[in-house]
Amino acid sequence: MTEPVGGPAAAPVGDAAAAPVAAGPRSEGGGGWLVACDLDQTLIFSRRSFRLPAGVPEPPLSTAEHIDGEPAAFLTVAAAERLAALDRLATLVPVTTRTLAQYRRVDLGVRPRYAIAANGGHLLVGGQPDQDWAAEVAGRLAATSAPLAEAAAIAEELAAGGWTRLTRVADDLFVYLVAHHRDGIPDLGPASARLAALGYTVSVQGRKVYLVPTGLTKGAALAEVVRRAGTSHLAAAGDSLLDAPMLAGADVAIRPAHGELHDRGWTLPGLRVTAAAGLLAGEELAASLVDLVSPAPAAATPWPAAGAGAARARLA
Ligand SMILES: [Mg+2]
Repeated sequence: MTEPVGGPAAAPVGDAAAAPVAAGPRSEGGGGWLVACDLDQTLIFSRRSFRLPAGVPEPPLSTAEHIDGEPAAFLTVAAAERLAALDRLATLVPVTTRTLAQYRRVDLGVRPRYAIAANGGHLLVGGQPDQDWAAEVAGRLAATSAPLAEAAAIAEELAAGGWTRLTRVADDLFVYLVAHHRDGIPDLGPASARLAALGYTVSVQGRKVYLVPTGLTKGAALAEVVRRAGTSHLAAAGDSLLDAPMLAGADVAIRPAHGELHDRGWTLPGLRVTAAAGLLAGEELAASLVDLVSPAPAAATPWPAAGAGAARARLA
């Protein structure tokens, strides 16, 4: 199996197009850390999800996404600096449920070699979707879930209640609905049961409801990246149910003190949870991950291991 390596064909993440390619050694291959980080609500935040404590001034911000020319998602400048450090010190892998087009709007200020979009449906190498992985995913989904049209039909039934702003099929891989208001999302229990029978998982994140084939996971794509990158240790950060398999398969796992997993009290042995919530949790977890992968004797606070290595096997 061949894969493109950097070079002119490598597309950057979003607006980083104009940025020079980061120089310097990477730890990829034959050891070191692979750091998999979810984006929305883990690293980047819309203003409505900042959750700054009363009286805490807004920290300096770096804009991570523009929509129609307007800033739409942010991380703190300090978090962006730590992300750049992570990209130098480890194999940083952005992992998101965003579609390819939505992911390409994101500018993290770094150009990681690998990224995962559409909840594992796309494995990007040098910014381009890997066709071998796409074929692998198509085969898995055909074997484990009913056709997407059946889930889309249930989504349309759900949307008939009038609580949704839109319903979308994402990259022909999964379906999501966006509610007008988070509080307007109805009881999804009955629909979830029907969808489970079809091989689909339901995840609610803010105003979005995702109907995702059970075989379409961030963890499976991440296992492929671990295999290709040849890294020894895996750290993962994420906030939602769709991140859970990735966190469970990592040697070190961290989640913010907000979001779907936090609301459910989700945990696992050795799991690290940020002290802060919202925007500041993103900065905190980025700092913790830098401590983790820094070669210095440093790491003032030793991390508990979420598991004992063998990340690949657990993710598969
Ligand atoms: Mg998230």
